[in-house]
Amino acid sequence: MRADLHLHTTASDGMLTPAQLACKAAQEGFDWIAVTDHDSMAGVAQAQEAAEKLGLHVITGVELSCGAQKEIHILGYGFDPAHAALEQFCAHRRAQRIERVEEMVKRLCALGRPVSIERVRELADGVMGRPHVARALMEAGYVASMSEAFERYLKPGKPGYVPKEDVKVSEAVRLVREAGGVAVLAHPMELRMGETTLEPLVHEWKTQGLAGIEVYHPSAQNNHAYALERMARREGMLVTGGSDYHGEGAHRSGIGEGLDRWTTVQEDMVALAAAIRESRARATNRD
Ligand code: AMP
Ligand code: ZN
Ligand code: FE
Ligand code: FE
Repeated sequence: MRADLHLHTTASDGMLTPAQLACKAAQEGFDWIAVTDHDSMAGVAQAQEAAEKLGLHVITGVELSCGAQKEIHILGYGFDPAHAALEQFCAHRRAQRIERVEEMVKRLCALGRPVSIERVRELADGVMGRPHVARALMEAGYVASMSEAFERYLKPGKPGYVPKEDVKVSEAVRLVREAGGVAVLAHPMELRMGETTLEPLVHEWKTQGLAGIEVYHPSAQNNHAYALERMARREGMLVTGGSDYHGEGAHRSGIGEGLDRWTTVQEDMVALAAAIRESRARATNRD
């Protein structure tokens, strides 16, 4: 059984449309995927529709950015995509993203690297973000690659970088749960914390409703994934895996990449499905 629970589409900053992504995942032998666009659920239904005839299951997903200078990403799974509060929150975050990108474009202009905001808008058919600015910088010939754009201008500490407005992890987790979903901490290794710093935080977030840890991800080398898995099991949390695929040649470039060590897919998917059912039942009872 093959699963990849962290995938981006053109609904945010991925290169493939949701339908193209579903076809590719089915061709490559995946049984379960989750579409987890940044602050948007717009790609999920299209991926599900395309997957229907392909024997592929598509879990409803989203990736929410929390924190400010240090970003903490929360994945939501299995929620009701029509839930008003979660969609309103995402719409608000998308509006903030537009302002943030406008500010980044202004800064780049002041640095003598003018890119057109209209072009950035065109490059983003979904949710605007730094990758769209990076592509515009490339097109203008200021950098040779996306990674050079991030290294020189767009990473924290670089002159074109503008942080997002802070959202607490507890708020993101609450919204996902109220919509009947399950919240999972994305790519913990990207927080660049040691285990002794990370575990107390994870423990605190768990008391706020965080249900799982994305143990398998390209950022977690073998020994890291091993340590994260032990942490998740110790804390009694779900274990998930996702490649964070954004398209060929883009950031993280293979469906299933970095997931070779995920040997417990079957059990972990059963546990995730049970947690989603439980959250759905709790959310329905509350309404
Ligand atoms: P944003 O949500 O606007 O802060 O942009 C974050 C996104 O930028 C991530 O989800 C990745 O798709 C992309 N990204 C981050 N770092 C890099 C990098 N070094 N090279 C290419 N893309 C990156
Ligand atoms: Zn992204
Ligand atoms: Fe992320
Ligand atoms: Fe992601």
